[in-house]
Amino acid sequence: MKAAVLYEFGQPLQIEEVDVKLPKANQVLIKVVACGVCHTDLHACMGDWPVQPKLPLIPGHEAIGYVAAVGTGVDYLKQGDVVGAPWLHSACGHCEYCITGWETLCHDQKNGGYSVDGGYAEYVIADARYVARFPKEIDFFQMAPITCAGVTVYKGLKETDTKPGEWVAIFGVGGLGHLAVQYAKAMGLHVAAVDVAEDKLKLAKSSGADLVLNSAEQDPGTFLKSKIGGMHGALVTAVSPKAFEQSLSTLKRKGTLAMTGLPPGTFQLPIFDTVLNRHTVRGSIVGTRKDMQEAIGFALEGKVRATVKTARLEDINDIFNQMKNGTLEGRTVLQLCEP
Ligand code: NAD
Ligand code: ZN
Ligand code: ZN
Repeated sequence: MKAAVLYEFGQPLQIEEVDVKLPKANQVLIKVVACGVCHTDLHACMGDWPVQPKLPLIPGHEAIGYVAAVGTGVDYLKQGDVVGAPWLHSACGHCEYCITGWETLCHDQKNGGYSVDGGYAEYVIADARYVARFPKEIDFFQMAPITCAGVTVYKGLKETDTKPGEWVAIFGVGGLGHLAVQYAKAMGLHVAAVDVAEDKLKLAKSSGADLVLNSAEQDPGTFLKSKIGGMHGALVTAVSPKAFEQSLSTLKRKGTLAMTGLPPGTFQLPIFDTVLNRHTVRGSIVGTRKDMQEAIGFALEGKVRATVKTARLEDINDIFNQMKNGTLEGRTVLQLCEP
């Protein structure tokens, strides 16, 4: 099969022929139709994070396609079913996190396109117990981004503890952020979208944001407090530590910041303000299998619709360059075969 392979951090991916693996017990082989390009894949290929991926690596964790073969023990999926191979490739199934519906925190998890090979390929192996499930008649290119970007922001919004009618600030309107705006609106929230690029703010507006703000030109905290009285919650998907710091200052008292963006770095958390204002700051990592099916449900009902540009596997290095420069709009999705 054809795949994009990383051999060295910071180097271009190589497009080459790789052997197709057969599914083992509890696994499925997926013939990939579409795979979204997440900024996490770029972090992986740059070796940005303290925990680094395996090398060589086939990246990609927004792949969806058809089940091509099933391993032993998989009696609930069959050839031709439409499934996605997500970031949470597998978890142990029996630790304190797995048994309490927090499999995303399992210490023994494997991650697609990171610790195991992912979907920048014509075929990918997934653990049948952790795949995303889709009905047959779907737009693969629309749905691929839901399996990471979609579920991550849907879960992240839940983690802001905001309620319908309240205000949430979305920092970063890229692949994750433009979906976050739509999930937030569908969840009955008022949305202030913040980015440093005008084209991203335009996308936020057309995605339904009530208010947009360029944080390179205006201080978000000052602006949103004077205009709205502050935010009940903030979700940061931006790839800059500065956005995390700025998002704190937009919160009302009792507000919650949910962090999903993963730029390398740190930010200052002021002790006095956090205590006196009873702020909550928490990380949020993708979503559970239950979150995944809920997030897919919103998309199937047409309540969220990814802005998608399709590309070829051979374009991946060019796409990464554009991602670094912040010039992509919405999500870029690789097409591996005809649906
Ligand atoms: P993207 O490149 O599509 O979008 C990033 C956006 O951040 C762009 O719109 C960019 O203009 C904006 N931005 C940059 N600097 C900013 C600033 N100072 N203020 C506001 N906005 C700013 O990336 P993506 O695919 O949406 O991923 C975003 C981040 O989320 C990445 O770090 C990725 O690794 C992470 N991520 C985390 C999870 C998780 O489970 N926590 C899941 C998926 C992705
Ligand atoms: Zn992702
Ligand atoms: Zn576990």
